[in-house]
Amino acid sequence: MTEVNEGAKWHQKLHWRIAIAMLLGVIGGLIGGEPLANSVGWLGTLFIKLLKMIIVPLVLTSIVTGVASVGAGAGLGRLFGKTMGYYAMTSLFACVVGLLMVNLIQPGVGADLLGADTEEMPGLETAQSAVEIILDIVPENFVAAAAETNMLSIIFFAIVLGVAISTLRQAHREPLLNLFEAGFEAMMRLTGGIIHFVAPIGVFALIARLVGTTGLGAFKALGLYALMLACGLTLHLLVTLPLILRFLGGINPVAHFRNMTQPIVMAFSTSSSGATLPITIEAVKNRVGVSNRVTSFTLPMGATINMDGTALYECAGVLFIAQVMGVQLGFEQQMLVVFTALLASIGAAAVPSAGLVVIFIVLQAVNLTGPQVELIVGAMLAVDRPLDMYRTVVNVFSDSCGAAIIAKSEGETGIDE
Ligand code: ASP
Repeated sequence: MTEVNEGAKWHQKLHWRIAIAMLLGVIGGLIGGEPLANSVGWLGTLFIKLLKMIIVPLVLTSIVTGVASVGAGAGLGRLFGKTMGYYAMTSLFACVVGLLMVNLIQPGVGADLLGADTEEMPGLETAQSAVEIILDIVPENFVAAAAETNMLSIIFFAIVLGVAISTLRQAHREPLLNLFEAGFEAMMRLTGGIIHFVAPIGVFALIARLVGTTGLGAFKALGLYALMLACGLTLHLLVTLPLILRFLGGINPVAHFRNMTQPIVMAFSTSSSGATLPITIEAVKNRVGVSNRVTSFTLPMGATINMDGTALYECAGVLFIAQVMGVQLGFEQQMLVVFTALLASIGAAAVPSAGLVVIFIVLQAVNLTGPQVELIVGAMLAVDRPLDMYRTVVNVFSDSCGAAIIAKSEGETGIDE
């Protein structure tokens, strides 16, 4: 696993090798352009496929183990309550930051985007309403849900299975629990292997492909809008979450950042909290020092439903669109935006660009629809990739803060020390 790096020279440490791979990816992409992007792109795809390969068994074994070891009684209810409370609180803070930024900077006022270059929307399926999100959670067929990597359904099934196992008599409970525990350990071993052997080259390829195909232009267009979002995300990442860590958990934010370097770099290069999940679990367990019981319970759920960066983006994005269209949204409508943005961030899949697709749920809530809106969203898509990379970092970091704070509140010691 990654601990083999301890005591090694700086350039042998994995996070440095990954950071260097990222830099080389930018340089390679700029110099090599599309030909390089085309020739190394498959390595990035391979890396993401390897990570995705372990997600379903990892989430299933991790949650079943976590829930079954907490037990079905008050312990589980308490953990669940704390986890949900933390998710709701941080996502709400993120929405408020998004609203503040867009109201202060007003990037959409006077912006002429209706003639800008637009992009095709990616074909992601999204729920259309809150009720649909809830109904979608319960799978008709677990195997089908697993085959489609439908995370909310897998999590639901794993929680109820874990609860059921915890109520069995010992002769049945123990072998099942052992089986899931052993499966979980095997998945963690696989994660370690993928990080160690494939991550640097995979990150190089992903960044080289991005920069090689879009150039740095992806980072420049729609300047003020992108800058406003980047400021909001930075505020949440560097101010709100560290304050929560310090005051709610009594945890040193700098130490937590240091321990989370690998997942942060992975989230940035993959744009997917789902694909980053194995690495997040590994870091929170082995570096931050959170128990199996809390990591197994909070992180898979967090990767799927706790998306602070996405919630911030939904709020700021919708208000930006309203500004471009010259529509004034009053206080009540902005509150409606916050509420639906929270739901949309829960419903967004933990994959690249999911946030941009679910923005339509929020737009619908305040009656912003029609071809002009689609044009603006298309223009936003043109600069979405770097913003997506950044909001994924915020999503993943908020999950790890939650795990650390909840572990502390459950009496665990040695967190981020
Ligand atoms: N890519 C983000 C994630 O996986 C979701 C989003 O598009 O906002 O966390």
